[in-house]
Amino acid sequence: RRLVRYEYDLGSCMFCHLCVNACPHDAIRFSTAFEHAVYTRDKLVKTLNKQ
Ligand code: SF4
Repeated sequence: RRLVRYEYDLGSCMFCHLCVNACPHDAIRFSTAFEHAVYTRDKLVKTLNKQ
């Protein structure tokens, strides 16, 4: 098996901070620089490994 698409659904995120605390490489962080106002939930799904 190979990971071919890595999607992050911000609509499913509870902003619980657990992934930030668990990441051993400090690759995830929360910030106040964001814009999450969208008209449809599908726009909250981000593809992180664009090719
Ligand atoms: S672990 Fe991270 S991605 Fe998952 S719900 Fe919590 S903050 Fe969101």
